[in-house]
Amino acid sequence: MALIVQKYGGTSMGSPERIKSVARRVARYRAQGHEVVVVVSAMSGETNRLIALAKEIQAQPDPRELDVIISTGEQVTIGLLSMALKDIGLDARSYTGTQVKILTDSSHTKARIQHIDESAMRTDLKAGRVVVVAGFQGVDAEGNITTLGRGGSDTTGVALAAALKADECQIYTDVDGVYTTDPRVVPEARRLKTVTFEEMLEMASLGSKVLQIRSVEFAGKYKVKLRVLSSFQEEGEGTLITFEEEDNMEKAIISGIAFNRDEARINVTGVPDKPGIAYQILGPVADANIDVDMIIQNVGIEGHTDFSFTVPRNDYQKALAILEGVQGHIGAKSISGDDKICKVSVVGVGMRSHVGIASTMFRTLAEEGINIQMISTSEIKISVVLDEKYLELAVRVLHKAFSLDQEP
Ligand code: ASP
Ligand code: MG
Repeated sequence: MALIVQKYGGTSMGSPERIKSVARRVARYRAQGHEVVVVVSAMSGETNRLIALAKEIQAQPDPRELDVIISTGEQVTIGLLSMALKDIGLDARSYTGTQVKILTDSSHTKARIQHIDESAMRTDLKAGRVVVVAGFQGVDAEGNITTLGRGGSDTTGVALAAALKADECQIYTDVDGVYTTDPRVVPEARRLKTVTFEEMLEMASLGSKVLQIRSVEFAGKYKVKLRVLSSFQEEGEGTLITFEEEDNMEKAIISGIAFNRDEARINVTGVPDKPGIAYQILGPVADANIDVDMIIQNVGIEGHTDFSFTVPRNDYQKALAILEGVQGHIGAKSISGDDKICKVSVVGVGMRSHVGIASTMFRTLAEEGINIQMISTSEIKISVVLDEKYLELAVRVLHKAFSLDQEP
């Protein structure tokens, strides 16, 4: 007998039929003697609908009230799933984040979980009930409803698994695991049987949308056994997120290719090469709450240097305007940029022990005549910025170059 936390995403909760099918899956686990805590998302499209509705009233929605509104999607699905469970003879009880007491900080729409009170859930589990918890939401110390950021139900699932010391956290979604890349771009993409937690963290931050990045951070911190599975398949082992030291399976050097077209590049050229210049450029951008990603500064030539970085595409115009505002003060020759770019990254822990990954990547892109605009690396990933029009081609040729279409 195990304690299992199952998280179901919006597509899995997308209709009464699907909710009933989720109930039947939970029932199968109960029949095997397992204790089950279920975390649910809102029905697919619902959170978007609620945000759009809020914006019709207030263009920049008040964050506290927005959380009150967008947390309702999950309140609906916990009730529906609990009813579906009772309807097939299981005892179940629904909980909002406030009812559990998922305590968060007060940063509305992107709150962080600070503590989870598991006592009520324990009592229910002991009494043989299925516990159904609303994902994505919590409550701050003052009793305000908070939400955890888009995709936040994943984090609720993992955080509950950590708090309950569950044997496994299963994330059910509309794909049957984590793939070498997005199968919509590369049909030969393969499901990974395992992926290390560090690789998953890179992939999530580099644009793979399978798991919310905070949920992966949580899993890493509390060593939660995490598995991504499809809710549309009866069977299937999905993808297990492992910790490297315990992952003795044969592994490819590269695990996957992530990409992201939500960024824009900004160039500041001809700035004086002197202390404080990076701060003068990026300080005002950070003050405006714009997330800067890749940052590149060249070595100075004749007292001047060039500086490039990427920002979320949504913030491109804002960032440009900020820099134009400080251009005179910084003494930059020009401010320019491009919002038709993409970032393509190869990820794999095997990079630590193998050389030549970067050269294979650059050769492959060169052979297709794809120009690389920026490069950045970490221990287990290499990212390049390219013209957006090359995204599909680049991902396809790299997938092939690293033999990701074949079992390792
Ligand atoms: N319903 C929320 C969203 O759409 C949270 C989630 O589904 O994880 O972002
Ligand atoms: Mg999701």
